[in-house]
Amino acid sequence: MTDPRHHERGEADPAITLVQGDITRESADAIVNAANSSLLGGGGVDGAIHRRGGPAILEDCRKLRASHLGKGLPTGRAVATTAGDLDARWVIHTVGPVFSEAEDRSDLLASCYRESLRVADELGARTVAFPAISTGVYRWPMRDAARIAVATVRAAETDVAEVRFVLFDERSYAVFAAEVG
Ligand code: ADP
Repeated sequence: MTDPRHHERGEADPAITLVQGDITRESADAIVNAANSSLLGGGGVDGAIHRRGGPAILEDCRKLRASHLGKGLPTGRAVATTAGDLDARWVIHTVGPVFSEAEDRSDLLASCYRESLRVADELGARTVAFPAISTGVYRWPMRDAARIAVATVRAAETDVAEVRFVLFDERSYAVFAAEVG
């Protein structure tokens, strides 16, 4: 038996669930945004989150830029803001690496998942929805991105109970489903 007075982080692995659809329609404690380091908006998931979440998210992002993230959020790191009008308490913004044939940036992609879960733990978020980070504009091949995402979440020491991957289309859903097994 585990003595609750000696609870250590990550004693139970998070359950991994998969959904096909638009991440801005999800209900979760935290929704992860595939942001860019400016934190001031972009396309893909980022654009959708700001559109549906409303101006409060951008307002928080601007405050972060005006305070301790003056140069923006570095690749592989994560930071939380309000979730505005989304059905969540927080948006966790993380900056994926741009895929490169010449350089292995897998550690940075893994870091996005690890750091997002670390921020989720700090917030006390128990359910966290992730998009397939870096697989859009940043061109990471879906199969490799899924392998890194699933392995990193499985290895993470976290109190998050559910990690939900929200895949935009049928193909990315199928790739993640094969990876989760
Ligand atoms: P990145 O810049 O990190 O590549 P993108 O937002 O361009 O991020 O794409 C990441 C992944 O999210 C892609 O697989 C893309 O198809 C998918 N995507 C785009 N919009 C949404 C959405 N509203 N909900 C979930 N996934 C989305």
